[in-house]
Amino acid sequence: MDHYHIDTKCIQEGYQPKNGESRVIPIYQSTTYKYESSEHVGKLFDLEAEGFFYTRLANPTVDYVEKKIAALEGGIGAMCTSSGQAASMISILNLCNEGDHMVSSASIYGGTYNLFAVTLKKMGIEVTFVDPDASLEELQKAIKDNTKLVFAETIANPSLVVTDIEKFATLAHKNQIPLIIDNTFATPINCRPIEFGADIVIHSTSKYMDGHAVALGGVIVDSGNFNWDNGKFPGLSTPDESYHGMVYTRDCGKAAFITKARVQLMRDLGSTPAPNNAFLLNLGLETLHLRMERHCKNAQIVAEYLEKHDKISWVNYPGLKSNKYYDLAQKYLSNGSCGVISFGIKGGRDAAMKFMDSLKLAAIVVHVADVRTCVLHPASTTHRQLSDQQLIDCGITPELIRMSIGVEHIDDIIADLEQGLAQI
Ligand SMILES: *Cc1c(COP(=O)(O)O)cnc(C)c1O
Repeated sequence: MDHYHIDTKCIQEGYQPKNGESRVIPIYQSTTYKYESSEHVGKLFDLEAEGFFYTRLANPTVDYVEKKIAALEGGIGAMCTSSGQAASMISILNLCNEGDHMVSSASIYGGTYNLFAVTLKKMGIEVTFVDPDASLEELQKAIKDNTKLVFAETIANPSLVVTDIEKFATLAHKNQIPLIIDNTFATPINCRPIEFGADIVIHSTSKYMDGHAVALGGVIVDSGNFNWDNGKFPGLSTPDESYHGMVYTRDCGKAAFITKARVQLMRDLGSTPAPNNAFLLNLGLETLHLRMERHCKNAQIVAEYLEKHDKISWVNYPGLKSNKYYDLAQKYLSNGSCGVISFGIKGGRDAAMKFMDSLKLAAIVVHVADVRTCVLHPASTTHRQLSDQQLIDCGITPELIRMSIGVEHIDDIIADLEQGLAQI
């Protein structure tokens, strides 16, 4: 199916029924699988035969969706997780042990920031946060002998910083370490980071991929491009005693990273998606290309409308010519960026609250990137655990409103904003 357009892949990839089989992905609501001989089950454990033995590790419904997402991102394999947080955590633990170090863009999702700055630190993994706009020379200063990876988001949530993926890939590869990109906001419809040098791509599928706010999930995609056998990743290139001496680079070839993530970390951590959620995720993926187009079109109109409004002090959307990241967006996100915009209202925090409470169509919810238009005040909600300095480092100011533009009719969205702004 390689020659198909991505729109077709959204619909057709992953599950191809044989004669007489269900047209739509079946839900294998089963934790376990029946076999005729113990010998065959032994081969499954040894990864010598293909098949399923326990849903914590793999399930046919989930497997179809993993194949679809791998195809959309241009990777060689993927593993779904129970949430985006689990995808970040597993992709990092797959490379870093206690005493290791990693470099991350400072402009990232609040939950990821906490994971890196607090929980990984407690586990003995140190993270240096860098300014995503810094020069390659500046960024190089953050790399140490024990640095195992570089991490960034294609479009940062919620600061909407557009990352120069090629710059980060150059930094990583110069130092023989991989680049992990969180591509949640762009989705593979608008950006495929592997084409720009990313080695591992992760997502919170809870956002646009599901797109309807019904199923929490995450995914890790392996490009298969990184050479793990360079002395820096003994976890991949020396025997895994917990898996009877398997050497992932030797035994799994290009799929070393994604196989280790599954048979070692998913086995031990168990952040497994439910088959039913994989079914819902697939339903979302089938219209991802249609929804992204409308999200981006609506968001562009809203951003331009707000930019001209005299009660608005600033608007941040990578599709605006005035935006600091406009040129990077043209390069990396030529189809459009995402449906999320942020802006500040004159009158600061109080005006922001009054405006949000006045909206009728757009609801206040702690979520973004689904079909319904919604608003959020990050400083008092998603990012409230961060200190003032951490907020500034993340690119969030107290008057910032994050708005996720849905796929409703644009005239209704604008009318709601108009009446909300008239209240202040
Ligand atoms: C939401 C989000 C996450 C975390 O995903 P969950 O599915 O909520 O665990 C990670 N990265 C980004 C960019 C996100 O927007």
